[in-house]
Amino acid sequence: MNKYLLKLGEIVLKGRNRFIFEKRLKENLKQKLNDDIISLKNWGGVFYLETKKDVSEDLKKFFGIRKIGIAQEFILFEDLKNFLFKMPFLKYNFEVKRADKNYPLNSLEIKQKIIDILKTAGKIFDSKEKIKFTIEYRDGKFFYLENIDGLGGLPVGSSGKGLALLSAGFDSPVASYLAMKRGLKVVFLHFHSYPQTGKEVLEAIENLVKILSQYNLSSELYLMNILELQKFYFQNIPKEYLVIFYRRSMFRLAEKLAQEVKAKTLITGENLGQVASQTVENLSVISEATNLFVFRPLLGFNKEEIIELSKKIGTFEISQKKFEDCCSLFIPEKVKTKAKLETIKKIEEKIYSKINKLEINIFSKKEYINYHPYFPHSSSSSSSSSSSSSGHTPSS
Ligand code: ATP
Ligand code: MG
Repeated sequence: MNKYLLKLGEIVLKGRNRFIFEKRLKENLKQKLNDDIISLKNWGGVFYLETKKDVSEDLKKFFGIRKIGIAQEFILFEDLKNFLFKMPFLKYNFEVKRADKNYPLNSLEIKQKIIDILKTAGKIFDSKEKIKFTIEYRDGKFFYLENIDGLGGLPVGSSGKGLALLSAGFDSPVASYLAMKRGLKVVFLHFHSYPQTGKEVLEAIENLVKILSQYNLSSELYLMNILELQKFYFQNIPKEYLVIFYRRSMFRLAEKLAQEVKAKTLITGENLGQVASQTVENLSVISEATNLFVFRPLLGFNKEEIIELSKKIGTFEISQKKFEDCCSLFIPEKVKTKAKLETIKKIEEKIYSKINKLEINIFSKKEYINYHPYFPHSSSSSSSSSSSSSGHTPSS
């Protein structure tokens, strides 16, 4: 049996709403660890977890836990003492916490007692050493804890749902991860231009969603084919405005889907100044296409910071490959960097009925894949007559 004391971090600052976050955390742990859990108890700011096997790797990819204490439990001080005697180190540093005030010694006194005992075994306490372990007294027992860092943040779902516009690049997977970190349960939407763009990009998207599902617990992925719309824009819009028109359509389609899946915000990997379409002016014009709040967690990041995070999350390898995706098709050499809303609206108005028709058609043909926590059992379906399966060929 494996035991853990999980420190909840930020949740403990939540005041009266705290129980909502704790409840969500508990549900998420059950979803993530499922059959492996033997018991899970809320000790107020700390969760006590017993599992059938080592789940520390799972816990490291879980939002809402600040510290993971891998625990050994001792009812008698004598047993703790014997355990510490056998520890394979000479010099050590440690901390003591007495959460259960019923114990007659306070934490300083317990600490001194342990130091004195270990001295007789030839082990040297040194406060300058890195802290190797924590001794906690709670629930009438002693816990020896080896601590590893958790991801912190808020339990996924505690901030509601967000819809992430996901491409295979570095940015949007990282943005999705950061949205989850702040408690959003993320639903994914990818636009493609099959068969103009290959199947490789769709496979990459599915693999990204699988990786991100480790944090998101389970995920829904929607696919929309925008090829016809892109072709239409390409023939009817001044080239320098194309990117802005694609993006505005993406936001309108995303908003429609957000309403359907009950997502409260859109999430993108947009980053100020990274490419011509991401100037303040252009971001404003693009945002105007939706009434939803657009969460852009990477706005102020440097590219190196984004790449660093993608390595930590595990999306780097996939994002590193260069795919031709819908956005690299039909792209002009020159892109307007400071688009004016009036100009865009004037062009849009004239062709809006056609745009609207194309968007309705795209929306009705969207495809859907559902990833369950542990991805081997991913299932899929389509919200239209066309069906899809994992590793599918999308309908064009
Ligand atoms: P990323 O590396 O995430 O693809 P990027 O540097 O390629 O970002 P853009 O291509 O300008 O930047 O896209 C900006 C944002 O628009 C992306 O971060 C993503 O949120 C969204 N986006 C771009 N392409 C797609 C797509 N094919 N499907 C869904 N969303 C997309
Ligand atoms: Mg991109």
